[in-house]
Amino acid sequence: MRLVFIGPPGAGKGTQAERIVSRYMIAHLSTGDMLRAARNAKTPLGIQADAYMSRGELVPDDLIIDLIRERLAADDCQRGYLLDGFPRTIAQAEALDKMLGEKKTPLDVVLELRVPEEELFRRLAGRGRADDKPEVIRQRLVAYREQTAPLLDYYQEKGLLKTVDGLGTVDEVFERIRSILDEFAGA
Ligand code: AMP
Repeated sequence: MRLVFIGPPGAGKGTQAERIVSRYMIAHLSTGDMLRAARNAKTPLGIQADAYMSRGELVPDDLIIDLIRERLAADDCQRGYLLDGFPRTIAQAEALDKMLGEKKTPLDVVLELRVPEEELFRRLAGRGRADDKPEVIRQRLVAYREQTAPLLDYYQEKGLLKTVDGLGTVDEVFERIRSILDEFAGA
């Protein structure tokens, strides 16, 4: 199963992603985690990315696309994967389509985790990560609204989009996700 997971910061995407990859035994590719690891290791990519991340802005597309291209070639991705936090822009989505088209391994489904903005701000304010200062939170929500939300139409037009209500307990939300993904399991 090849799956893209889209949702605004604070929607609970990370928690649900963990559950999804463990149930369906697929690789978990989080560009946010990869960038944070690169930043901690002070690699050239990490140093470049840090300036954007600390402002709540998106890292330039070419850096991210190279990162994902390399990662998708690894052995553990051959039986399927969940892309968490990628693509974040139309340019990234088009680059992904091109990569997967060349490999003849198209996406099976794009899952949107939907949570209203007031609720996101409330949740993010309580989380306390270094990039969770109020102005940075606001900027990350703006980046989502302006750069990432257009992907929903993009994937809707391709007939790939499924939307899940992200309000409720972790178990309730996962149950909704499971009822959608079981159909694709084994793909
Ligand atoms: P996340 O943990 O997915 O919210 O990502 C944390 C930060 O990493 C984001 O606020 C961006 O600065 C950067 N980032 C992660 N994924 C991407 C992406 N696909 N494109 C651009 N920037 C990204």
